[in-house]
Amino acid sequence: MSTGRDLRWVDAAGELPSLSGAYALHIVLDKPARLPPRWPGLRMDAGEYLYFGSAKGPGGIRARCARHFRAGKKRHWHVDWLTVAATGLRAAAFPDASECDLTARALEVPGVSIPVDGFGSSDCRCCKAHLLALPPQFGALFSDSILNRVTLFAHNTP
Ligand SMILES: [Zn+2]
Repeated sequence: MSTGRDLRWVDAAGELPSLSGAYALHIVLDKPARLPPRWPGLRMDAGEYLYFGSAKGPGGIRARCARHFRAGKKRHWHVDWLTVAATGLRAAAFPDASECDLTARALEVPGVSIPVDGFGSSDCRCCKAHLLALPPQFGALFSDSILNRVTLFAHNTP
């Protein structure tokens, strides 16, 4: 179980806590993916992305991420357009954090950027987006260390 400072990326929702709170998705696109209808005709470039969300309903983070991992789901949230096209998808739980704080702090890491204004943050008054692009120049070889740097930084900075 991933709680507190024990950050762990998992590729199955059953390994996540059923607490309410925030979570991160690491999304890998090997080819461009169509964006939701709000951005008609546009595509998200191939690359690696970090999405921060929150789960407050029954089953908490585990139930919400089970939906994210499910193939062939009906697309509803912005991030669904990416998870159905993803060639890699992992999740990490942040039960005691807010997705907006995580987003803001991850954005302080050099090279992390907002690819599409408004993506995943329709209900949010403070964030330009809840989806961030990881720096492409580092490539797949280093993605794990970048990912942990970004998320640990987001999690541990007061
Ligand atoms: Zn926000």
